[in-house]
Amino acid sequence: MSIRFKVILPYLLLTLLIAVTGAFVVTRLVTSSLEERLSNQLLEAGRVVSDEMVRQEIRQFNDARFVAYTDGVSEALKNGDVEKVVNLAKPAAGGLSVENVMVFDAGGSEILHTLKQADNTIQDVTQPRRAATLPIVDELLRENNPNSLPRRMLAKDPLDGRYYYFTAIVVPLQNEITGVVVTGTSLNTLLPSLKAIAFADVILYDVNGQALASTFGKSTTDPLFLRTVSIPKDFYNRVIAQDEIIEGENFEVDGRFYRSGFSPLQIGSDRLAVFAVVLPMQFVVESSSTSRNQYVLLYSAAMVAVILIGYLIARMIIIPLSSLVRTSLAIAEGDLTRRTGVRTNDEIGILANTFDVMTENLQQRTIELEKTNQILEQMDRAKIRFIQVSAHELRTPLTLVQGYAQMIQIKAKDNKDLEKYAKGIIEGAERMTDIVDNLLDVSRINSNLLEIRPVEVEIKALIQRAEKTFQTAFAERRLTFITEGLDTLPPIQADKELLYKVFYHVIGNAIKYTPDGGSITVSGCIIPEAGHPAAIEVKIQDTGIGIDPQYHELVFEKFYQTGDVLLHSSGKTKFKGGGPGLGLAIARGILDAHHGRIWLTSPGYDETKLPGTTVFIRLPLNGTQ
Ligand code: ATP
Ligand code: MG
Repeated sequence: MSIRFKVILPYLLLTLLIAVTGAFVVTRLVTSSLEERLSNQLLEAGRVVSDEMVRQEIRQFNDARFVAYTDGVSEALKNGDVEKVVNLAKPAAGGLSVENVMVFDAGGSEILHTLKQADNTIQDVTQPRRAATLPIVDELLRENNPNSLPRRMLAKDPLDGRYYYFTAIVVPLQNEITGVVVTGTSLNTLLPSLKAIAFADVILYDVNGQALASTFGKSTTDPLFLRTVSIPKDFYNRVIAQDEIIEGENFEVDGRFYRSGFSPLQIGSDRLAVFAVVLPMQFVVESSSTSRNQYVLLYSAAMVAVILIGYLIARMIIIPLSSLVRTSLAIAEGDLTRRTGVRTNDEIGILANTFDVMTENLQQRTIELEKTNQILEQMDRAKIRFIQVSAHELRTPLTLVQGYAQMIQIKAKDNKDLEKYAKGIIEGAERMTDIVDNLLDVSRINSNLLEIRPVEVEIKALIQRAEKTFQTAFAERRLTFITEGLDTLPPIQADKELLYKVFYHVIGNAIKYTPDGGSITVSGCIIPEAGHPAAIEVKIQDTGIGIDPQYHELVFEKFYQTGDVLLHSSGKTKFKGGGPGLGLAIARGILDAHHGRIWLTSPGYDETKLPGTTVFIRLPLNGTQ
């Protein structure tokens, strides 16, 4: 993942997380504070309704007393003078605030029953001798106690089928009662007035939890609607047993949400029913959704701003970094002219500047090195030219020396001393010819003038030829020459003479750097690649003085010799015999021209422990490795 995403992605995710959490928390806070307000309002509305009901009770009680204590009513009741009772009580009832007035005699028969109409006129609906249907009337009559406390209840008046809140008192006369007066206000009138005072809708329930009436618009007494807002009986029982208001579930009426609080309707010591005060929830839902929308909008705007700022900051960091990366890649590919171009004053600017300075230095060094290299190459070419010229020039006199020495040898047949000197001259000249040949080989290799004439070559034959060449040396130096696995090597395409030179030099070295009595082992094997023979490998292992690992590569350079050259003995097969240091350079040059490889391993240099050296020669079978 690029640094661009590593910086921007977590930043984006974090911003998003904070925004979402913020919006959630704020909306929750708003909602819960609104809900708390709603709960308090419900509590307050419940209290107002309870208080108002007490006042209503007092009003009804006073109205009932007004009728009961109208002069002559109690006596007329006692005397069974219905007409008088009606004449006295009816006008009294007409001036009352209550809507329903009933007068019963001590026997429980209805004497007067008036109902106030919508137009405030009083309608007499008395059904003489109708037995009292209200249980509170029966109770008072049964008690027959002039000091009985008033009774109240919610009940239906069968005459108009409406529900009323009734208050009943006795009509006393001395120590007895002569009747009962009942005053009532219909729930249809009572509930709207409660709503007006409490600023909340009100629902009244009967003992079964069935809603009797509500203030919900047209649906006040609609039984279907009332059924929908009814409560389970056990919930009713729970509420009636409770002093506190109990908050109910949210519910929906005509697409608007409401919340209700349930409370017992307590007048004096009587718990008459359960009522609910209902407040619209809509404002909670709406304001929470409005506030949520507002906050989402606010946070979205803030987030866009944060992301924009973040993007700009990331750009400020990433652009110089990208330039740094691009420049470093270009430099790694060799373009030292490239610079970052970052000119800021921060850490990245310092880094880029340092990088540019480093590149500048590197470029300068490279230019200097290139110049030095060119000079060195020129010098090397001059050296090679010199070697080439001198080797050529040495050849002619050498041939002369060899020719004359041979002639002296023939002429001095009878002079042992002279013959020995001539032989010495011949051997010396041969050694020099050898060296001159090597010099010419190296100069050819260096000038890429090595000509390869490939023919089919048997490695074993080349090794045998070398063995034969060094036969005398093996005998003189008591060296054992062992060959292994050479028969298994297939013939390869190579320049026979050049390849012979490789083995000649390597075996020659093994002889030179192995003390008398040691051994030289030449072994061959096939190197497979992907299951097929790919190359042949020849290993020349000696039991000699070995080479320090730091020189394992250097010895392949021309004229490179380890140790003190002056200490070397003369003679090309003597122990530590001298030489110009060309053998391995020639061998590598020849192998390079054959697409082969030569390398050596040795645990190290030690003239007493004799760790030995192993030279590896690998040649491709297809000629292109
Ligand atoms: P030349 O081969 O030209 O006669 P030379 O043998 O010294 O001279 P190289 O054959 O190139 O030169 O070898 C370079 C050096 O590597 C040697 O001088 C010698 O120090 C070291 N060297 C080469 N082969 C061996 C070996 N088998 N054991 C120990 N040292 C070796
Ligand atoms: Mg050598």
